[in-house]
Amino acid sequence: MNIKIALAGNPNCGKTTMFNALTGSSQYVGNWPGVTVEKKGGKLKGHKDVEIIDLPGIYSLSPYTLEEVVSRNYLLGDKPDAIINIVDSTNIERNLYLTTQLVEIGIPVVIALNMTDILRKNGDQIDVKKLSHKLGCEIIETSALKGEGCKEVAEKAIALVKAKSKNVPQHTFSQEVEEALSLIEDILSYSMEEDNLHWYAIKLFERDKKVMEQIELSEDAMSRIEEIAKGCETTFDDDSESIITNERYTYISKIIKECVRRKNNSKMTSSDKIDRIVTNRFLALPIFALVMFLVYYVSISTVGTWLTDWTNDVLFGEIIPPAVENFLVSVGTAEWLNSLILDGIIGGVGAVLGFLPQMLVLFLFLAILEDCGYMARIAFIMDRIFRRFGLSGKSFIPMLIGTGCSVPGIMASRTIENESDRKMTIITTSFIPCSAKLPIIALIAGALFPESTWVGPSAYFIGVAAIIISGVILKKTKGFAGDPAPFVMELPPYHIPGAKSVLIHMLDRGKSFVKKAGTIIFLASGAIWFLSSFNWPMEMVDTAESMLATIGKVIAPVFSPLGFGNWESAVATFTGLIAKENVVGTFGILFGFAEVAENGAEIWPLLQQSFTQLSAFSFLLFNLLCAPCFAAVGAIKREMGNGKWTLIAVGYQTGFAYVISLIVYQLGMLFTGNGFGIGSAIAFVLVALILYMLFRPYKNVDNNVNVSKRAVGA
Ligand code: GDP
Ligand code: MG
Repeated sequence: MNIKIALAGNPNCGKTTMFNALTGSSQYVGNWPGVTVEKKGGKLKGHKDVEIIDLPGIYSLSPYTLEEVVSRNYLLGDKPDAIINIVDSTNIERNLYLTTQLVEIGIPVVIALNMTDILRKNGDQIDVKKLSHKLGCEIIETSALKGEGCKEVAEKAIALVKAKSKNVPQHTFSQEVEEALSLIEDILSYSMEEDNLHWYAIKLFERDKKVMEQIELSEDAMSRIEEIAKGCETTFDDDSESIITNERYTYISKIIKECVRRKNNSKMTSSDKIDRIVTNRFLALPIFALVMFLVYYVSISTVGTWLTDWTNDVLFGEIIPPAVENFLVSVGTAEWLNSLILDGIIGGVGAVLGFLPQMLVLFLFLAILEDCGYMARIAFIMDRIFRRFGLSGKSFIPMLIGTGCSVPGIMASRTIENESDRKMTIITTSFIPCSAKLPIIALIAGALFPESTWVGPSAYFIGVAAIIISGVILKKTKGFAGDPAPFVMELPPYHIPGAKSVLIHMLDRGKSFVKKAGTIIFLASGAIWFLSSFNWPMEMVDTAESMLATIGKVIAPVFSPLGFGNWESAVATFTGLIAKENVVGTFGILFGFAEVAENGAEIWPLLQQSFTQLSAFSFLLFNLLCAPCFAAVGAIKREMGNGKWTLIAVGYQTGFAYVISLIVYQLGMLFTGNGFGIGSAIAFVLVALILYMLFRPYKNVDNNVNVSKRAVGA
């Protein structure tokens, strides 16, 4: 027998942590809501026939958000054999709102009363036995973070399935509502053979659109149900959905009064105290800027660099290439093969892998910031700023995720209900430098700005600025106009990050970086080596006469106005579309990384000859902002759902990057005393155009009907 057990609960209650504990996998755990947007399955450790499914976090089984729809479709459509309802015991009132609905759908439920470690620390007490009796389902106390109680919960769920037991919901609605519901059940019983008629009756009473579409009742039946609901609404002087909501909450507060004893601590928790400062109206932004500055500064410019210097100079300079060369010579391989391995593979892949230490340091910091709860505050702080510009703070969650990789970031935009906000977020998410862009930043910062502290961190702030500027510009065009959807987000309490989860997170990201280097970058390096070593008649030649050079020279003039019209940069930019790491890999091959490294020199001096500081910065800007890699474009296409919008997105990103780089380079030239020319004139026109687009009035449209009826749980 194959048993399916679903994990359901509010956002941020610990579902994924529990999932990882049960299945031994390492899914993404973030201390903020909205991380899991798709359900994920895994086998229960030690039970081959039991599948655990991690569902997106939801507050309710209403059909308003994507998470709700995904979770609900799974629970009702795929019918798991049991549900483990994870309840955050420190937030029990709001969490039980979902519980009262889960117990109605006719699948056995076990409650994992989670975060009991915090509960205990706060000195609060929950009478589990009584609560279990009141709710009509078993409760096990757990701490998913410490792995306590997880196994017991799973075993209890399996036992329920094997015993074919059903839990009996203990709560009832008021007499009038129950009467109305049983009338609806009668009507339904003619047309469907569901064992959860009660649930459907409630949903129809609430006029749940998705359910109404799904069960196709006759018109007569529909109008009778409508009449019943209307009757109740007159009695209660409220709409049917609110009647149900209110009665659920009344019921919950009653049982909470009986089962929960809070230690009367009216003093602020330490989370509140920290938040007084960290989310303070005036201090929040400077603190955020400082934190991100330090994160990027330390990982790109200090600690990270020492490690990277060692990998670049020693490991991929003095150790690996000579060793490999000696080996190749001793075996007596052909000269072209030597070149492929030394210049192509070690040159390209080595140049990229050389940045691994810096990436790991950055990943470590990001994992700590995420896990302790600070990142959730950033979304909250950004919401305040975004709102001022007519954007939704919900857009910032995809961007937080995008600091690792744009692909899951773009996917996370799914949770944004408002269509135009969602499209805008999909378009702008990749402006935040993902980890693959880090080597480019580190290379440019290291080679051309060795003394500067700001170049590395600037990449992050440029990303944020590009998002805000684009947001405002796009909001003022017809396709995107409208008020931002309200963003309700609850701030999780701070906690000291678990060393294990932070390390897993860091190593996981590091692993996928290395994997990418071994696959995509490896293949691309081979291809670039081939194109840069042969000319069209297939003779082995100097790089400058190779096929790649001829191709590059055709594209290069496009970038001349941006200051990097040399063919190497043009080629690097293009290979970056396959994977951003390729930009560095390409430089590694074209500037003979392995060869120079062998002579104790680095790729940097050669880069310094090809760029000025200004043109290098312009190159960095362009590569940060232009179209993302193929994988991310694929994600854009999937989320947009059509080719036209994908083209608009990629076109906008590339156009925006081009304009910004051009302005920076041309005005930079002007201000460094290079005289006024046609380039400066164009730059001024573009600046004027951007200012116009930023400051023209908002379009007045009311086509943006906002269906977000639901505040949290209401
Ligand atoms: P999800 O959104 O429900 O999937 O929640 P996550 O599994 O991503 O966890 C959210 C946050 O709560 C993470 O920072 C976890 O480390 C933390 N967390 C989860 N379970 C517990 C627990 O039992 N005790 C404590 N103290 N923290 C927990
Ligand atoms: Mg999750």
